[in-house]
Amino acid sequence: MIQSILSNIALLLIMHLSIQRLYFEKLKNDLSDSFTRFFHILLTSLAIIAMFYVPIFIGEYRFDLRTIPITYVALLHGPPFTIPILAVTSIWRFMMGGPGALPGIVFGLALPTLLALIHYSLQKHNITNLKFFFLYSLFWIISDLPIIFLVPNGLEAFKDIAVPRFLSFQIGAYILHYFVQSSRHQHQLVEQLKTYADRDPLTGLYNMRKFAEIISELRSKTPLYIVMLDLDFFKKINDTYGHRCGDKVLKEVAEILQNADPKKIVAGRYGGEEFILSIASSNKNDAMEIVEAIRHQMEEHHFYSLDGQLINTITISAGIAPLKEHWGIEAAIELADYYLYIAKETGRNRVVADL
Ligand code: GH3
Ligand code: MG
Ligand code: MG
Repeated sequence: MIQSILSNIALLLIMHLSIQRLYFEKLKNDLSDSFTRFFHILLTSLAIIAMFYVPIFIGEYRFDLRTIPITYVALLHGPPFTIPILAVTSIWRFMMGGPGALPGIVFGLALPTLLALIHYSLQKHNITNLKFFFLYSLFWIISDLPIIFLVPNGLEAFKDIAVPRFLSFQIGAYILHYFVQSSRHQHQLVEQLKTYADRDPLTGLYNMRKFAEIISELRSKTPLYIVMLDLDFFKKINDTYGHRCGDKVLKEVAEILQNADPKKIVAGRYGGEEFILSIASSNKNDAMEIVEAIRHQMEEHHFYSLDGQLINTITISAGIAPLKEHWGIEAAIELADYYLYIAKETGRNRVVADL
């Protein structure tokens, strides 16, 4: 009995480690949500199906810990993950046949999962340790109900096996919970570090290192224009309304840039009140139009100081240069910067793409 309980717990852990690996791959390689969800569902289903083949024998009864992974997914991720797992594992168990098939599906999988989903819809995934204990005690009772009602002298049988069943259920669920929570915590930390490494803390735009990395990948797929963009007379904002207000303006400018045309534009903070964009386009007029639209939007945008005063119109100047095939990104930046200088020299609030 102990061996098969340990086998079930080992399956829970293998499932957890594989899913943990999947989510780290997602973070590293930007895997899509649907791809990761598919594999999460597959791995959980496989673990549950594997449990069908390592039953825990207590006297003449066969059990496994199938209820734990499926209810845990339901508590944490809700219906989109849980329903496919429930469908796949129920069909599998049904096809395996035997007198325990239907009660095993209804009481071991479906009913506890339904309760876990109700909990998810009410509470999302706010689960304290005490609540976790009660939930898994409840799931255990539900999954063992068939013994009481379907086996002759069922209550006696239930009492005989209650202790090992209860303990294996609680221990299995807690082990899974502990490792999932600690790896989620670790995952959040890595995500946070990744943000710190890739993004400018004030505006949330890419820093130059990440910007250059993205561009060097992107340029093999599509022709690009590089745009250098600088706020006009920004020093005056700082001098008049204070540095914190200047920061607020920079954040709002970054938001405008980020939302301008996200399919074509990658935006970074070059430094200070200078921003850099790449525009995916093979056509200078197209790039010019996009930057003109941003310039216009900036001109129309109402910026407010921290105490709610309307700030005089804020404008930008910009220079645009193509990222030619044989050029390094620095060459395009240098040319765009030169055009930006011309834009400043010829009156500001304008976009220059050539002379
Ligand atoms: P121009 O039209 O010629 O670009 O004039 P300008 O005043 O914008 O340019 P200048 O280079 O003289 O001043 C840029 C100012 O931007 C100076 C600096 O204090 C301010 N600045 C740079 N980084 C930040 C920042 O992170 N926050 C705030 N609030 N101000 C910043
Ligand atoms: Mg400026
Ligand atoms: Mg500047």
